[in-house]
Amino acid sequence: MQELLTYSLLVVLLVIAAYFYRKKKEKQRKLSELMSRPFPEKWRSILLKKVLFYRNLEAEDKQLFEKQVLRFLATKKIEAVSTTIDDTVRLMVASSAVIPTFAFPNFNYPAVRTVLIYPGSFDEDFDVTKHKGHRQFITGMVGNKALKGTVILSKPDLLAAYNGSRKKSNVGIHEFVHLMDGTDGAIDGIPERLLDHSYVASWLFEIKDEMEDILKGKSDINPYGLTNNAEFLAVVSEYFFENPKSFKKKHPDLYKYMVEIFDQKL
Ligand SMILES: [Zn+2]
Repeated sequence: MQELLTYSLLVVLLVIAAYFYRKKKEKQRKLSELMSRPFPEKWRSILLKKVLFYRNLEAEDKQLFEKQVLRFLATKKIEAVSTTIDDTVRLMVASSAVIPTFAFPNFNYPAVRTVLIYPGSFDEDFDVTKHKGHRQFITGMVGNKALKGTVILSKPDLLAAYNGSRKKSNVGIHEFVHLMDGTDGAIDGIPERLLDHSYVASWLFEIKDEMEDILKGKSDINPYGLTNNAEFLAVVSEYFFENPKSFKKKHPDLYKYMVEIFDQKL
């Protein structure tokens, strides 16, 4: 009797395992089929017009970028909250995710399931009417009002981030850099790649140095970066991706760390 029970249990477990294995395979097959589809020409022209990072890529890298955009759109939910979204907004969200991780094509933000698009800026209580211009990144928090696995972006801020001009800010890149920073378990301004290379001490010293310059008014980096090391990383990354030439010229030491963190020479 005991043996029969154990045997039955084993069979049930095997059937369940086979079911999930098949489901996973099917998902992978669907995704690779989706990623091999031709990239819509209309989408390509939106990217060319709005995403400077994409525009500056070589033809082969453009294709790689498009594939990563398709994968992001196929695997994450993008939902509008009290507003509307179109292909442009979806492409801006996907671009924000792809840009910082472009050198790591296997990375697809495992902690993110949903991106919510809000009609305007919002504060920690998700109130869109207060604190204009403030933005809040929410992930990995259980309970409370925060939503696990969710990124929230303000639609007008996101559209402004991709208006085709060179600047120092990009709300989308900012939030996805936080997520990339958090893959080692902590959003602390010390990304995994630096941990791997044991550059942590010198990176922290570099942050401190640059923060002092910001305080003295000797730096053109957004003072929001003074908030903490995580915000510092997000803010300098926005600048690095949005205007790499100016960033390299004005912040050659920081630039070297950015190249190391993102494995990209811009
Ligand atoms: Zn932030």
